[in-house]
Amino acid sequence: METPVQTNIDYEKEGKQISYLRVPHSRNNSAWGKVLLPIVMIKNGRGPTALLVGGSHGGEYEGPVCLLKLARELEPEQVQGRIIILPALNLPAVTAGQRVSPLDGRDMNRSFPGRPNGTITQIIAHYVNAIILPLCDAVLDLHSGGYSLDLYPYISMHYLDNAEQMAATRAALEAFQAPVGLIMEEFTGEGLLDYAVEQMGKVFLCAEIGGNGRLTPSTLKLAEIGTRNFLKHFNIMQGDIVTCKARNLPPMRLMETPDTENYHYVLADGIYEPFFELGNTVLKDQPLGQVHFAHHPKQEPQIINALTSGILIGTRGPGFVEVGDCVALIAHDLKQASEPS
Ligand SMILES: [Zn+2]
Repeated sequence: METPVQTNIDYEKEGKQISYLRVPHSRNNSAWGKVLLPIVMIKNGRGPTALLVGGSHGGEYEGPVCLLKLARELEPEQVQGRIIILPALNLPAVTAGQRVSPLDGRDMNRSFPGRPNGTITQIIAHYVNAIILPLCDAVLDLHSGGYSLDLYPYISMHYLDNAEQMAATRAALEAFQAPVGLIMEEFTGEGLLDYAVEQMGKVFLCAEIGGNGRLTPSTLKLAEIGTRNFLKHFNIMQGDIVTCKARNLPPMRLMETPDTENYHYVLADGIYEPFFELGNTVLKDQPLGQVHFAHHPKQEPQIINALTSGILIGTRGPGFVEVGDCVALIAHDLKQASEPS
């Protein structure tokens, strides 16, 4: 396979390997320089392969920390099959604390399937798409709201056309055990790691845990338990699934965001005043919040009304907003198959 990425990782070798993907990054002060992207591989005998990804975006800390800890803790004898861990997929973005790479301005999760002769983010995406994904049965991608959003912790999947793939993905979603299990209609499409994995017919889950550019003990714990539950679900790790109930939490709430109406955007620059906390119930046409105009005391704030009823599972992080910023995500309880739609 044509790729400029070099590594000494042997994907068929038994045991634990900790190394780098060496991605070329020629620049003024380092003509033959590389970005060294950490990769950990743990293999023990036959069994499924799971890919665990963190740091696709910078500023999202649960994934990298959870996966760095897991990579140090896990030994081959605890594994049946193969685990590939990329704790900081967009390392330049992670170390800069920015959503997109400071090296080429690209968003990793808009760069799949990538290009072997493209920019650095495209080269990394291409390597993952061409070399790593074909080895995998299931992929878990750990995100959070970053600096711009705060998210009610959820594990998510997309509506899929293939019923068998949908059922296998739904079973993995239910095994993860987050406060919310969300089934989403995706409006981004090609470019996402999600889409690349789903196109190959494999299981893909995306965790969105926390946000506001911070790391908290509870969100990290959620990521850690969910990641291990994911591995247990595929029998790659042994042990019982740790349910929400076992942690004295309410059972996982299955929800969905089927329409563009679930997302709410502001139409003015200003200071966003939210009227609700994450997890609150909101009703259609109810004001969700309003934008204040710091320069114009006489001007009434611009109100953002709910386009649909449901639970607020995403809200704006920083107070200042610009036209086109998303300030609210509202999810509905999942309609059961027996209910009329
Ligand atoms: Zn993200």
